[in-house]
Amino acid sequence: MISIRRVIIIGATGSIGRQAIDVVARHPDRFSVVGLSAHSDEDGLVAASCHFPGAALCLSSRSPRSGAIAFSGIGGLSALVRDTDADIVLNAASGAAGLSVSFDALSSGKDLALANKETVVMAGRLAFAAARRASRLILPVDSEHSAIFNMIERFGRETVRGVVITASGGAFRDEPLESLPGKKPTDALAHPTWSMGAKITVDSATMANKGLEVIEAARLFGLTGAEIDVVLHPESRVHSFIRARDGSLYAQMSRPDMRLPILNALAWPESVDESVADMDPCDVPLRFSRPDPERYPLLRTAYDALASGEGSTDAYNAANEVAVAAFMDGAIRFTDIARVVSRTLERAYPPTLEGLEAVLAVDADARRVARSIVKEIS
Ligand code: NDP
Ligand code: MG
Repeated sequence: MISIRRVIIIGATGSIGRQAIDVVARHPDRFSVVGLSAHSDEDGLVAASCHFPGAALCLSSRSPRSGAIAFSGIGGLSALVRDTDADIVLNAASGAAGLSVSFDALSSGKDLALANKETVVMAGRLAFAAARRASRLILPVDSEHSAIFNMIERFGRETVRGVVITASGGAFRDEPLESLPGKKPTDALAHPTWSMGAKITVDSATMANKGLEVIEAARLFGLTGAEIDVVLHPESRVHSFIRARDGSLYAQMSRPDMRLPILNALAWPESVDESVADMDPCDVPLRFSRPDPERYPLLRTAYDALASGEGSTDAYNAANEVAVAAFMDGAIRFTDIARVVSRTLERAYPPTLEGLEAVLAVDADARRVARSIVKEIS
């Protein structure tokens, strides 16, 4: 007999949040949604809540117009996560703003289904310490990490000597290199295989997303940079490989559909029958190749940041958020995103960050540096 899991969905109006609502609503025997949040999309939040009468609602950017929304502001978001009786929080907020959600979930005794990779990139070691203290789990939702997590759980960590993460290559994979400086935000948002939020779609085109994922994998699974490989795989069917000690390479495959990793995280350690449509192995021919370092300089920068330590990976994320926002505003060119990040990382940052205050201080510092570089080159 499987008990019903009570779920809070943070970022319910986003790409991951909406897909989570879709899968959870289809399994009322497995899940009940007890809390939902959005940042500014009040109408979207109210519409999402129709599926789940009685769920506590939070609008985190401002006071709501609707009387149905009981929580608001940053304090309200923290109260929703901490004070609502729930088993698991799906953190699908975008960006560094998701950090406090993760710590509120763990410290109030809930498991954490983590789409917000920024939490792990900024403060992975601290998040794992918080999970251990509360005897709670951090379950990755990012498709590559969900794949690796599930394979490690099945094969055993001791059999794994490395991982290979796949990357679609984003919107400009096949575009001439000399055309990249002229690319506009609307061009970067046309992703070939995944439909995602705007920030991660731009990160896909620069491969900063893969850079963040290399750091995420290192922190989640205790791997060094040398143990993490990245390959281009345009079809997005293989989500990751693990390298076993005997030399075998095992892959996890499915159609590109985030509902599978979302459900896997929410249901863990159970599995849910027929969660996504079967993949036909004859569907499309699968291709793999090495990413071109000239096209994707931010991938190398992420490995360098990982080697430099926790302050540098925190700064990588902060500088990239500033640079992507500047690109979306038309202040800098597409190829300047990598320049802003690598120049921000020329500074020295502490190799270890002891506590959330130190994490937030480096984040603020790196944002200041990145903004001044944006100003200089725009
Ligand atoms: P979206 O931009 O589509 O959605 C973001 C969600 O977070 C929205 O509900 C938004 O509310 C809310 N939000 C925005 N700003 C804040 C804030 N300051 N505080 C609290 N909530 C906020 O993003 P995605 O769904 O694409 O991505 C969410 C996270 O999941 C990211 O960390 C991303 O890297 C990760 N991820 C996403 C994948 C995908 O397929 N989309 C795949 C793997 C990981 P509102 O709508 O009101 O603005
Ligand atoms: Mg991913």
